[in-house]
Parts: sequence; structure tokens; C-alpha cells
Amino acid sequence: MEITVQKTDNPKEKPDQGNLGFGTNFTDHMFIMDYSKDKGWHDARIVPYGPMKFDPAMATLHYGQAVFEGMKAYKSPDNRILLFRPEKNMERLNNTNDRMCIPRIDEEFCLEAIKKLVNIDKEWIPTAPGTSLYIRPFIIATDKYLGLKPSSTYKFMVILSPVGAYYPQGVNPVEIYVENEYVRAVPGGTGHVKTSGNYAASLKAQAEASARGYVQVLWLDGLERKYIEEVGSMNVFFKIDSELVTPALVGSILPGVTRDSTIELVKSWGIKVTERRVSIAEIFEEHKKGRLDEAFGTGTAAVISPIGELNWEGRSIKVNDGKTGRLAERIYQKLTGIQTGELEDDFGWTE
Ligand code: PMP
Repeated sequence: MEITVQKTDNPKEKPDQGNLGFGTNFTDHMFIMDYSKDKGWHDARIVPYGPMKFDPAMATLHYGQAVFEGMKAYKSPDNRILLFRPEKNMERLNNTNDRMCIPRIDEEFCLEAIKKLVNIDKEWIPTAPGTSLYIRPFIIATDKYLGLKPSSTYKFMVILSPVGAYYPQGVNPVEIYVENEYVRAVPGGTGHVKTSGNYAASLKAQAEASARGYVQVLWLDGLERKYIEEVGSMNVFFKIDSELVTPALVGSILPGVTRDSTIELVKSWGIKVTERRVSIAEIFEEHKKGRLDEAFGTGTAAVISPIGELNWEGRSIKVNDGKTGRLAERIYQKLTGIQTGELEDDFGWTE
């Protein structure tokens, strides 16, 4: 399929790189293609970024048949544009589509479209330390119909946002509230895919944790509130003694690209990594025995987010004295080094 390009007549002024924040500025162009039953995915186009017109009965607005991805582009010191394992995001998008009754996309074609869009807006890729161009592919159901059924029409879109350094003052551990009431996902639900409703449903716990002075919540399983699943919208790892442990992908956990990369990287360093069920009681117990060395989250936005404190049912423990652990720091340096092209990409993860 050909991708037509309509360039903007009014390029916007680029934001100050020292003050980008996350997801507030958008580049000059966006990618769109449409789906209908008779034509399949068609009419691929890059057009000026701007507001769109929708019917108030549009299915997405009512029943949330909507999915998305999140990934980043960097400009390397030798001026190449680097994406980090983007084929993983395309594969996950199709897994999400399957779960949400949305037609599959052609992964290779969509990746080409993303590369073409990023290339057109390449002047928007920030280069200050820690900054990047966040890429948001998403699909919305566009039928004008209030009956509950899978839509017969969709839009696949990609927008780009220059984003600031997640840690302007260096990697910083955060205080985490172990959530005992609300759950993020249940077996058989949608926790293993990236659909919009998961995030709407997580807001309440996040808001209550914030009001209590915590930065994020640690999600427990939806059946027993016993096993650890994720932290905020990141996967979670614990270093217990000399081993790195992370919850197994039991069906209610999102398979993070950073999670997968962390496992592979740490294994390559000769450190044992285990994917299994981990209970919150076990973590508190290991802390008591002095064997809980580190805890951290992994995700595209922050890459690594160390956990400095965990509060569970009114009991609080400090992890590694509230400081960033050595392993977390080492993973952060290596992954961000590969992503930005500043370090050797021994794994062939950038393209
Ligand atoms: N869990 C959830 C719920 C997420 O939204 C994300 C972000 N996509 C992650 C984990 C981390 O995934 P990734 O490393 O692919 O960004």
C-alpha cells in the first residue's frame, strides 16, 4: 500500500528542550489509515497534525473499543534515528487487537509507516540528555452506532510527542503503596493487552495512593490479593539475594518490552533471572531476613524506576535504604545507552 504525504503549510515552533514534560507537545504530522469490511486497511496517509471531527455516537467514545502502543525514537550521536525493538510493539498491538475484536494490522507495513512519519518529523527528535520522541500508535472504533458489538470501521493512527528526561536529577527511587482493594486485571480479562479501559480503571487507585503521599501502586492479583503483578504501569522486578525475580506472565500482566529486554540483558551478565509467582508476603519476609537487595519497575517511559519504599497494610519497608540499587543503575545505563546509540548494541535491538 502506498502512503500519501501531505505536508503542513504551517510548521509549529519547536518547544524548549529543557522543559518538555510528557505528552504535551505534538509534532507537525500524523499518520492515519482507515479500515472497513470491504476494503480492509486502506488509505494510508501522513497529514498535518490537528483536531478531528467525530460523530457523538462513535463507538469508541461509549464502549472503549480502543487500543494503543508506546515506544520511543532517539537520535544517535552520529545522527541516525533509532527505534528500540519496535517489532515487539507491533506484535503486541496485534495481540491487543485480537483480544479487543479489532482487525489485525500488517506489522511490517505499520512499522514502515511509523519510520516514514518519524523521518518526516525528525527535526522534532530532541537531543538533550534523557529526552526522546515518544511514538503513540493507536486504533479507535469509528462506527456511528450505540449497539454493543465490534465496530465495522476503525482508524489506525500514529502521533509523535517530544518528551523530556524522566529523571532530570538522575534515577530516583519512589515510594509505593501496595494496593489491597482495587485490582488492575483479572484472569480472563484484558490486563495482558494494551487497551484504553485498563488505564481508566487504574486511575482511582493511583489517585488514592497519591493522596496518601505515594507515587505509585503495586498491583496484586485480582483473585486473592496475594501475588504481585505490576507497579503502576510498569513491570516489576525484585533482587532477592543473588537472584533477580519477576512475576511470571500469568495472563493478567502486560508483557513489557523493557521487561523482556531486562531479563535478556541480566541473564547475559551471568545473573540468575526467574519468572514465577511472587507473593507480597514473601517480599516482606525476604526484607526481614535482609535478603531483599533491590526492587524496581521497568517500562518505556522511565526505563527503570527503583522502588525505595513499600507500604502494605500499614507496614512500611525501605528497600536498599531508599537508594537506587547497583543492578537497577547498571540496567538503566546499559538499556538507555543502547537506545540512544551511545553504547554498543550487542543484542541488535535498535533499528
Ligand atoms: N505494564 C503496563 C500496564 C504498561 O502500560 C506498560 C507500558 N507499556 C508496561 C507494563 C511496560 O511495558 P513496556 O516495557 O513495553 O513499555
